Amino acid sequence: MRAVFLDRDGVINRKPPEGEYITHWSEIEYLAGSIEAVAALHEYGFKIVIVTNQRGIARGKVKLADLEEIHARITMAIAERDAVLSGIYYCPHDIVDRCGCRKPQPGMLREAAAAHGLDLSKCWMLGDSPSDIEAGRRAGCRTALISSSPDIEDFDSKPDVQEETLALAVHKILKIEREPKFSQCFEQEPSSAATSPDLSLEPSRHRSITKEGNSVPLMPILNNALRR
Ligand SMILES: [Mg+2]
Ligand SMILES: [Zn+2]
Repeated sequence: MRAVFLDRDGVINRKPPEGEYITHWSEIEYLAGSIEAVAALHEYGFKIVIVTNQRGIARGKVKLADLEEIHARITMAIAERDAVLSGIYYCPHDIVDRCGCRKPQPGMLREAAAAHGLDLSKCWMLGDSPSDIEAGRRAGCRTALISSSPDIEDFDSKPDVQEETLALAVHKILKIEREPKFSQCFEQEPSSAATSPDLSLEPSRHRSITKEGNSVPLMPILNNALRR
C-alpha cells in the first residue's frame, strides 16, 4: 500500500505568520485547489495521511481539544470531496524535547507506515519547508516541495518535485506515476547520478514504477483545481 504524506500548514491551509499558531478551526483558510488535489490523489489510489508539527501544544498556545476539532473539520472537508483521510499525525512536542516525531525526524511517517501497511519507498512526502523534505528523505519516500521560492540552497536534499501549489505538485506527481519516463525530466544530473557511488540518498529514483493507470486522462476534479 502506498500513501501521500501531506504537511498541513502551507500545503492544505494558509500558513500562519512565523511564531503564530492556528488556535481554532475558524482560522483555517484552505489554499485554492488543495482539497480537490487531495481528492485526486485519493481517486488515483493513494492513501492520504497528514503529518504536522504542532509545537503550539507544547508551548501552551494551542489547546488539544481545538487541535482535534481543526483536524476533524479538515477530515470532513476532504470527505465532502468523496475522499478519505487515513489519518492525521501531529507532533505536540517542542524542539527541545528532541522527540522522534517532530519533522525532520521521520517518526510520524514510520508510525503511519506501520499502522497502514505502507511501503515507504512507494510513498511521497509533500511539504512547504526543508524539514518536510528531509523527513520524507529519511523515511525513504520521494518528496515534493510546495514553494514559489527558487531558493532551495539550504536544503540538505533536493526535492524530487517543486511546484507553487499542492494542485500543481499533484498534477506532476500523477504524471510521474502514470508515465515513469516522465520522471527523467526531473533528474538534475542523470549521467552523474547513474555513476554516483552513493545512491542511498535518493533510492526511489532508481527503482521502477508500476505502470498502472498509464493512459488514464487527468481527473476532471484536478483539472478544475488547476484552473482556479
Ligand atoms: Mg508547513
Ligand atoms: Zn514529537
